[in-house]
Amino acid sequence: MTIGLLKEGLPENRVALLPEAVKTLTGMNVRVVVESNAGLNAFASDTEYEAVSATILAKEEVFKTSDFIIKIQPPDAKELGLMKEGQIFMAVFNPLINTDLVKELCSRNITSFSLDILPRTSRAQSMDILSSMATVSGYKAVLTAANSLPKFFPMFMTAAGTISPAKVLILGAGVAGLQALATSRKLGAVVEVFDVRAAVKEEVTGLGGKFVDVEGAIDDKAAGGYAVEQNEEFKKRQAQAIHDHAVKSDAVICTAQIPGRKAPLLLRKETVEAMKPGAVIIDLASSSGGNCELTRDNETIIHGQVRIIGNSAFPAEMPSDSSKMFGKNIINFLKLMISNKGEFNLNFEDDLIKGTCVTHNKEVISEKVKCIIK
Ligand code: NAD
Repeated sequence: MTIGLLKEGLPENRVALLPEAVKTLTGMNVRVVVESNAGLNAFASDTEYEAVSATILAKEEVFKTSDFIIKIQPPDAKELGLMKEGQIFMAVFNPLINTDLVKELCSRNITSFSLDILPRTSRAQSMDILSSMATVSGYKAVLTAANSLPKFFPMFMTAAGTISPAKVLILGAGVAGLQALATSRKLGAVVEVFDVRAAVKEEVTGLGGKFVDVEGAIDDKAAGGYAVEQNEEFKKRQAQAIHDHAVKSDAVICTAQIPGRKAPLLLRKETVEAMKPGAVIIDLASSSGGNCELTRDNETIIHGQVRIIGNSAFPAEMPSDSSKMFGKNIINFLKLMISNKGEFNLNFEDDLIKGTCVTHNKEVISEKVKCIIK
């Protein structure tokens, strides 16, 4: 079996497999071909790939020689054009939203996998790119907030007086929110966290945060640990609670998401206008609409005296470790399909393979995607 690794287009700096991940594959008797300069923005040179027995080729040649193509971002028009019938393609292409792409992959008889729909079971943890990238985002969001604030994060007692610690409010206590909490605490901030899932309260307090309780959230056990849409009555109480805490905060880190839907709107314009001058909002949910009413994706805006940074792409700003984690997740997933002798076996009895496979033999395989594609 030959695996082809593609170079991403800017502003994506990550690469799906660093040389250390390629080494694992070549050790499993898989031939790996790498598009020239694929790792350059993640600080991995073609020479380092060649040192682990990969062959460097032009994009067109990678498509011609590979059975299985891997990248991070969805395929662009040129890449789609180069795909061959029966080829396997793996990336992160949000098939619940990008339905036209799913239909095209299906009609072209491409076997496709989208790593963002990997079922989130305990067996899948070592393959979960969403968790890995959320870890990077939560960490980087806090560093960005600290860097943008006109004051210190930690408390300081100096000869020039006492500096009070920064107050951070985190909206959403999933993987990114908990990492943002841990990082803010390490930097010495006082942290409050809000989430609709009461189950996270213990984790928040365990990491040194204060959980903001709002009574009456709908916590749907059937949603598999995810949040669900809340009713209007709850949304009003939640908006008031968030307002009361946000206006006392120096930084608000927004991480709240609902899979496959627009992000919940949690920070209203009136709240931003009542926040402290110099405060900063980092909105990690910006690509799905943002938690703050004023957020613009991939933009920093100043509203009054509050800075709002809309960025869902922090992992691309830390390409070495992001690519390292991404590659490790991919290798763990590929091990479900590729033996140590390099033999490929697509076993749809395995819930992780079936749940992540979007198209195969001109059919949609993932049940989640099937529900959306009519
Ligand atoms: P996510 O990115 O989907 O959402 C982030 C957080 O936003 C969640 O905690 C969610 O409850 C919260 N949220 C949504 N709507 C909200 C609202 N209106 N107000 C406040 N908060 C709101 O979450 P995630 O980080 O991907 O993790 C979600 C769940 O999946 C967690 O229970 C986590 O433990 C679980 N998980 C399981 C695995 C695994 O077993 N493989 C891996 C990672 C996460």
